[in-house]
Amino acid sequence: IGANLARAIERHGDREALVDIPSGRRWTYAEFGRSVDAVALGLMAKGVGKGDRVGIWAVNCPEWVLVQYATARIGAIMVNVNPAYRVHELRYVLRQAGVSVLVSSTEHKDSDYRRMVEQVRAECPALRDVVYIGDRTWDGLVRAGEAVPEEKLAEREARLSCDDPVNIQYTSGTTGFPKGATLSHHNILNNGYFVGETVGYTEQDRICLPVPFYHCFGMVMGNLGATTHGACIVIPAPAFDPAATLSAVEQERCTSLYGVPTMFIAELALPDFATFDLTSLRTGIMAGSPCPVEVMRRVVAEMHMAEVSICYGMTETSPVSTQTRRDDDLARRTGTVGRVLPYVEVKVMDPATGLTVPRGTRGELCTRGYSVMLGYWEEPDLTAEAIDPAGWMHTGDLAVMDEHGYVQIVGRIKDMIIRGGENVYPREIEEFLHTHPKIADVQVVGVPDEKYGEEILACVILREGATALTRDELARFCRGRLAAFKVPRHLRVMDAFPMTVSGKVRKVELRETGARELA
Ligand code: ATP
Ligand code: MG
Repeated sequence: IGANLARAIERHGDREALVDIPSGRRWTYAEFGRSVDAVALGLMAKGVGKGDRVGIWAVNCPEWVLVQYATARIGAIMVNVNPAYRVHELRYVLRQAGVSVLVSSTEHKDSDYRRMVEQVRAECPALRDVVYIGDRTWDGLVRAGEAVPEEKLAEREARLSCDDPVNIQYTSGTTGFPKGATLSHHNILNNGYFVGETVGYTEQDRICLPVPFYHCFGMVMGNLGATTHGACIVIPAPAFDPAATLSAVEQERCTSLYGVPTMFIAELALPDFATFDLTSLRTGIMAGSPCPVEVMRRVVAEMHMAEVSICYGMTETSPVSTQTRRDDDLARRTGTVGRVLPYVEVKVMDPATGLTVPRGTRGELCTRGYSVMLGYWEEPDLTAEAIDPAGWMHTGDLAVMDEHGYVQIVGRIKDMIIRGGENVYPREIEEFLHTHPKIADVQVVGVPDEKYGEEILACVILREGATALTRDELARFCRGRLAAFKVPRHLRVMDAFPMTVSGKVRKVELRETGARELA
């Protein structure tokens, strides 16, 4: 990553690399390189050696990006800590990864990061030093680096290999406790490069990033996607803000915009949406969950993102495995997650036999190639469960591949219900129940059943003002339109679903509480 940045500086030294809207600060590639080196030397002055873990717990800001490249430059392993974590998750991650230096924000909105760090510090024996962005400890870091001779950087660099770990990213914890995916320079640099290549980035592009840096969406598809093509990173705000995002696009004439579908929905819903000049946009990336057709249509037509791309991936695979292409039509950009990226393989496998299934048939999606992580940090058993001896990462996602290689994600294996020997896919029932006029949101899970092994439970959130919904009413709605074995036997009306900090529904919890209530 360091060598790749050096090349970008050589080629694009005078072009802009990074713009921070909230503070108005800007860096050309040459200036960015110097700032990265200052932080790298500062970390060396603090005794950070090759392979040492440096944690980063902060909302989006330029220093986050500087730390990302500075740690890579000195062969340290950056540990991304989700800014939405609270004390018990922070403690877990700092201890599990053995973080020795932590860079954090002081505070943001209702998050007093400094107080939380001080609260767990005594329980993290490896943690020697904490640096807070924007206070004297940050200046102290940079000043300490001034005493380290610059040759030290070159000496360190000579000892690095592209297969060294550079990053530990924790998974979202949707299906259990977060696992630390250990990723190499080779893993994430290539993924950033190929994602950017597929979108068609050049040094003319300016990429607006309202997505969090702690997540691979921000730091790999965003930051590395930009710097591997000499493009510019634009930070609209510390955390997602729809109006700030659109005004950053307008003000900086951004050509690309990232987001999960809900972010685009929020931007399109702004009362003054029509007043923003978004004509500079050409492309962008939408990922993380499926995009409704209507939203995609508006993003293309009203946000001028004619070439917007959909990505599928997971933390363990750097993250992207499949992506739609610039000329894919609307149907492919809403109905599929695109085709496999260059130099990666995907296959759809029958989990029972281990054999590849025919095109058009459901099975588990497996990925192999440069993008597969080194392993879960200090979890050899979990790693062996996930990556088979032939190098295939078993994603745990159910997929169908069509004859042209386009992949559709149809659910997760862990969520599949087996009722009386029949496979039932919750996604299919959920999509159908979404058409019920009283239902605002719905999650379908399996619960234990004496007769059928598993039965179907629909957990629903009712629309505002809707009258009570009964089980019989739901069954009547399904009759004749859904196969009898797919009709939910149980119904639970809820106010909200249990969520992970990254905003995904925790079905494990719905299954457990559902089973307990019905027992
Ligand atoms: P954990 O592994 O801890 O249970 P997680 O799998 O949710 O959590 P991530 O690595 O952040 O953690 O998310 C990857 C998962 O997100 C994929 O395995 C897939 O289920 C889902 N996903 C990613 N992109 C898409 C997409 N474009 N469409 C549908 N689902 C997607
Ligand atoms: Mg996962």
